[in-house]
Amino acid sequence: MKRFVYADNAATTKLDGAVLEAMLPYLTEQYGNPSSIYALGQNAARAIRAARERVAFELGAKPEEIYFTGGGSESDTWAIRSAAALSKRGKHIITSVIEHHAVLHAVEALEREGFEATYLGVDRDGLVSPDELSAAIRPDTALITIMTANNEIGVIQPIAELSAIAREHGVPFHTDAVQAVGHIPVNVDALGVDMLSLAAHKFHGPKGVGALYVRRGMRLQNLIYGGGQERGKRAGTENTAGIVGLAKALALANEDLEEKMRVTTAMRDRLIDGILGSIPYSRLNGSRERRLPGNVNVSIEFIEGESLILRLDEQGIAASSGSACTSGSLDPSHVLLGIGLSHEVAHGSLRLSLDHFNTDEDVDYILETLPGVVAELREMSPLWEHADKEGVDNAV
Ligand SMILES: *Cc1c(COP(=O)(O)O)cnc(C)c1O
Repeated sequence: MKRFVYADNAATTKLDGAVLEAMLPYLTEQYGNPSSIYALGQNAARAIRAARERVAFELGAKPEEIYFTGGGSESDTWAIRSAAALSKRGKHIITSVIEHHAVLHAVEALEREGFEATYLGVDRDGLVSPDELSAAIRPDTALITIMTANNEIGVIQPIAELSAIAREHGVPFHTDAVQAVGHIPVNVDALGVDMLSLAAHKFHGPKGVGALYVRRGMRLQNLIYGGGQERGKRAGTENTAGIVGLAKALALANEDLEEKMRVTTAMRDRLIDGILGSIPYSRLNGSRERRLPGNVNVSIEFIEGESLILRLDEQGIAASSGSACTSGSLDPSHVLLGIGLSHEVAHGSLRLSLDHFNTDEDVDYILETLPGVVAELREMSPLWEHADKEGVDNAV
């Protein structure tokens, strides 16, 4: 029977009903401007204060180290541009080839402004090497920015190890933790980072709101001029409802996190084993062990990722592909190329991202549906027709 299965939680997540409920008063009767001194305004100010304290608590930070932003991309851009602009060391940035475009494009913009960048490669599993990071650090390195967990292949970097190297050299360390926060334990001291980005809509909060953690003592450049909001660094009347929603979503996501991780990991592993076992010429992308609980990313050879996504959509499955079709030309994912896949194999990739709102029935349905869809697409594919299928004994 056809159903709807949302398996694209890495792109965004549904708003948790309890989060909406926490937000509603600030969209309706509690509409005061938090800067106003009468009660209606102060109610909103108090809600933001409580939200900041909660977010700080969840990350093991101090409230004055939390800046609310308009989402993950803004947090990344702000962190990177600020560290670059204020550095006394020089004009060199270190990042990795598999970062989110919010990071990569911010670093590329700095390159156009006279900075130099080193893009660390990753191994087959998607991991950055601590030795390579050590070797890349220069006296003029202003910032190292390496993501906590990758949005496409789910690989979790050894951030504590990498940040320790940065600290030894006195280089600030930023991490894009947008995929990690609310899905695995994230504590700024355990990670040893100086700046960290997160976005509410990746853990069942509202879209268009995020946060940037900035360790005390680390200077932060102004982002938006105007009033004194966010310690005078990001002016503009606060998104009270969004901020309240972010804090509520984070608190809920971190509740019984270990148990949610266990449940989600079990679904993930059943999906991975089921796919690899039923679809010939399929392989897992990214480390099997150092992997987000909900991330499945497989390459399915001899098919086109885009057509697969559209066929799955017809069957009620919302998923994503590593290949993004931009202006008629197919650009394979920089992440999949980064782990060494060929252009062809990178094109036939499928990302299924689950979380604890998914069910075993969702996994069953995907496993029932996917092999048939793949077989159909392969039947129509000239790539498949000419492929050397010697030795493949699975039924297709
Ligand atoms: C989603 C995402 C972003 C961007 O966050 P927005 O809130 O959409 O701006 C940045 N980095 C990673 C790793 C992401 O997954």
